Amino acid sequence: MPIFTRRDFLTTAASALALSGLPIRGNAAEIFTSGESKVVALSDGSFSFPADFWLGATDAEKDQLGNPVVIGANVYVYRANGRVFLFDAGAGNAAFITSQFDTVGRLPRDLEAAGIAPESITDVVITHMHPDHFGGVVFDGAPLFPNAKIHINDREWAFWTRKGFAADAPDQLRPMVASVQQTADLVADAVTTHSGEADLGGGVIVQPAFGHTPGHTVMLIDLGSERLLILGDTVVSDHIHFAHPHVGWALDLDPVNAEATRRRLLDLAATDRLLVAGNHVTKPGLGRVERRGSTFNFVPI
Ligand SMILES: [Zn+2]
Repeated sequence: MPIFTRRDFLTTAASALALSGLPIRGNAAEIFTSGESKVVALSDGSFSFPADFWLGATDAEKDQLGNPVVIGANVYVYRANGRVFLFDAGAGNAAFITSQFDTVGRLPRDLEAAGIAPESITDVVITHMHPDHFGGVVFDGAPLFPNAKIHINDREWAFWTRKGFAADAPDQLRPMVASVQQTADLVADAVTTHSGEADLGGGVIVQPAFGHTPGHTVMLIDLGSERLLILGDTVVSDHIHFAHPHVGWALDLDPVNAEATRRRLLDLAATDRLLVAGNHVTKPGLGRVERRGSTFNFVPI
């Protein structure tokens, strides 16, 4: 049974000011509380992509997406047991991003508006190392979260940091790989890798969700009365990937496994009545998944 309705959420957001010790100001952040733990949804901005990036979508499905397609860039903060987790770090402001997108890189501003100091973040948990999720661990050329461990799947870290990858990657990937490797160099001392399913403590478990990238992970967070699944890029656009999970995404490195992973996780979320959060789902990206025959429906909260 859902414990939060939209109205509950709004009143909770207001009353949480006094309770949380994590002040929320303005509209920059929204919060869920469950017992002592808190989840805040922040935004790094938004992206626009051509509808053709959703591979295999019919013309009618593309019409549902719009063109260009605007997708969210959500980032989540979870505070519990003396730790402050950040789930993905946004895009940052490296040239690779700023030369293509002027609508992202806003996480530092959103953190400030929410009264969350980057120094207070103890753990940054990365779903995968694409620049829009990992790039933001660096801002203005320096690590943004000086006191945080950065948790990354070992396969993901090895894939992107392989010596020579920036030179031997396919032409169209080379600038991205170079940017990821520059970011990785700047934060390597703070990175701690994990294998397979890993318990990071504080109620946070990372699980392999390979396909989009070789070491893509999702996070399952035990909020006490609820469990929250952060989907990373297993879903890119709530307008299509729940109802049409067969549709691919141009940046999936292994499309077959990406689809299988998407179906598996949406099925899990529907069966276990999980709260889900999607980095690219319409802001703030929180909701539940219902089964519709062999596909799914997203119910935003
Ligand atoms: Zn992404």
